[in-house]
Amino acid sequence: MTRPSACLFDLDGLLLDTEPLHGQAWQEAAGHFGAALSRQQLLQLRGRRRLDCAEQVRHWIGAAALPVPSVEALLAVRQPIAEALMLQAPPMEGARSLLERCAALRIPMALATSSSSAAVAHKSTPHPWLGLITVRVHGDDPALRAGKPEPDVFLLAAERLGVEPRHCWAFEDSPAGATAAARAGCLVHVVAPEDLPRQAYPGGVIWLESLNALQF
Ligand SMILES: [Mg+2]
Repeated sequence: MTRPSACLFDLDGLLLDTEPLHGQAWQEAAGHFGAALSRQQLLQLRGRRRLDCAEQVRHWIGAAALPVPSVEALLAVRQPIAEALMLQAPPMEGARSLLERCAALRIPMALATSSSSAAVAHKSTPHPWLGLITVRVHGDDPALRAGKPEPDVFLLAAERLGVEPRHCWAFEDSPAGATAAARAGCLVHVVAPEDLPRQAYPGGVIWLESLNALQF
């Protein structure tokens, strides 16, 4: 049986089922400024950092010939909507048992997320089992130069575990995240959402029906 030297986990859409809620928050925030975001546009925001998403949404608002809010104004509208929604996010299937198995087998784990430290703390409130992952790279990590799809989040997470990226198994759900992990040289496992085509992902990834499908 093959076991990973280390596991690098995405959070949103991989361990917690937050992605539909993130989409809803962006949709409501853009709607506040008069813009209607399509389902296709919301899918493009998956896995990316909040500031990167904000720039993208501002671009779409401008492209709709509407007055473009500042990043601050957009986030000020979105933040309370998102915070209220995030506490409702359930765990993804198999997430908790996988973390518990890694901990029991002493497989090093790190979080490799685009979410900020404060956002992760907030979302984790109803899920104390996420505390099994103590090594973390957040989207606002001072040592992080670029967000997903750049490889930095995974490179930094591997470095903090002291494990070569090519020996790490990365777990992702979004095309941006899977691209980041593949560029970092990790063995990428993807639990793909039903609403995203496999062509949106880099080649060479291992597809999982759910985190329960892992055999180690
Ligand atoms: Mg994700």
